[in-house]
Amino acid sequence: MRGELEAELILSQPPPGGHAALERLLPGLAEEALSRSLGKGATGRVVSWTLEGDRLTLTLTADNSRAHQALLALARRLREELGRREKIGVRSLRAIRYRVGFDVPEPPTGPVTLPVPHELRFDGTAATLDLLDLDEEALRDNWSDRAVALVDEKVRRQHYRGKEQYWKLLSQSPQRELTFHEDPTEAMLRRNWLKNGPTKGKWYLGPLPAHLLRTMERIAVEEVLRPLGFEEVIQPHHDSFDILLRTGHLEGLPGEFYYVTEPKSRDPADWERFTDLVKITRKVPEGELAQLVSPPVAVSCYAQCPTTYWWLSGRTLAQENLPLKIFDRAAISNRYESGGRHGLERVDEFHRIEPVYLGTPEQLLELRKQLLARYAHVFDRILELEWRTAWVTPFYMAQSGEVGVEDETQRVKGTIDFEAYLPYRGPRDTAEWLEFQNLSIVGDKYTRAFTIKAQKGELWSGCTGIGLERWLTAFLAQRGLDPTGWPEGFRKYAGELPREIKFL
Ligand code: ATP
Ligand code: ZN
Ligand code: MG
Repeated sequence: MRGELEAELILSQPPPGGHAALERLLPGLAEEALSRSLGKGATGRVVSWTLEGDRLTLTLTADNSRAHQALLALARRLREELGRREKIGVRSLRAIRYRVGFDVPEPPTGPVTLPVPHELRFDGTAATLDLLDLDEEALRDNWSDRAVALVDEKVRRQHYRGKEQYWKLLSQSPQRELTFHEDPTEAMLRRNWLKNGPTKGKWYLGPLPAHLLRTMERIAVEEVLRPLGFEEVIQPHHDSFDILLRTGHLEGLPGEFYYVTEPKSRDPADWERFTDLVKITRKVPEGELAQLVSPPVAVSCYAQCPTTYWWLSGRTLAQENLPLKIFDRAAISNRYESGGRHGLERVDEFHRIEPVYLGTPEQLLELRKQLLARYAHVFDRILELEWRTAWVTPFYMAQSGEVGVEDETQRVKGTIDFEAYLPYRGPRDTAEWLEFQNLSIVGDKYTRAFTIKAQKGELWSGCTGIGLERWLTAFLAQRGLDPTGWPEGFRKYAGELPREIKFL
């Protein structure tokens, strides 16, 4: 990586000694700033500079990515020295052009765009990025590094486009004789067990499916979480943007959130025109409403673990609490699934228990084993499902070797998907199975992002999302709606069922 920075400093007034005065000052300060900021082994220099009145422009090069840090250091020293000697300040500092040269892994296959003023050229895998008009804050905030990382990411994505995530079978339950072949949502609809909700992708569950969903919840809590020492927390339902910035969700999934807005005012007087319009038109005055609410201030829960990391942020966990094992089932998840919506299995609002765990790498690997064993007990002996597990890795992570996939000893950080066979989708070897939950160890990604530490040693974390609608759909798709087809273990848990409601 190499950088060339064309910068402009506006001084509070022209230096009395003019060019000659600066001539005595600048080269020394530049050398000092460059050697301190560029780091060992790197070289750089001020190639040229000119002073016109109060405007100092200079060009600085470096053979690494820290030219902007050298510039900031030089500006700081200039501020000190000009202030002390001449009582002159530096009013503003900006990069007119910051040229960074770097290599991408493969030549791009299409245009690469950036949302800030720039010029970008490729010669094979050699990229030249000119960032234009960066102010001091952007320089300080390392926009240049992030822009380079983004170009790299976008080029990689062009090559992975369309490629699936890496999937490797880990375990498979015995095949079961399954006689039910309907889509369970359709079957439930016919029997009036549930109704498509009043808004997108949401369902009203009548007493029967509600009871079954809560039975699934009890099974998960009593058969998996309590025996392993997980304790319940109750977390808020809205996630702040700050949390999502830290987890990376905001850049990863902005099109899947439900956004929360607030009324700008709760004074009825401010709402008078709105309420009057409602009274007269009996319609929602949408334009009026848009004026009266804030831009989004938060999102409705997407996953529960980010808020748990927020809860622990900045804390050091005592040895005696590790591994920390907690779960939340209070926050209800909302996702804008759009075209993917299907039945009760892919909905915009779902109920999930999300256990989160923090501990040493060894503790989490041991806990993963225990969780897998408890889950297997539930799926084999209570729900008697046909299910399998797979090691799944986003394609780019598998490619970059970030997460091992083939060798069992490399499968440390990463995600295990649990999938159930849905007979209504066709033969087991060709139909898509349903991911009904997963289990991840994410290493120190979030403990680092939220500065959560252990009393001693490394602190890792992970989570496992138990999707209750998915458990229920998987179960009913295999076993049908008739309780006589349900395994004894589940029937015992379910106890007496609510009566079906007959509509006339
Ligand atoms: P999918 O690949 O099916 O979209 P995901 O990878 O988005 O799932 P995660 O974000 O890992 O799912 O969420 C964890 C769990 O939450 C899933 O295993 C599933 O049980 C549940 N879940 C996720 N999205 C939905 C949804 N739209 N409807 C019902 N349950 C869901
Ligand atoms: Zn999570
Ligand atoms: Mg999804």
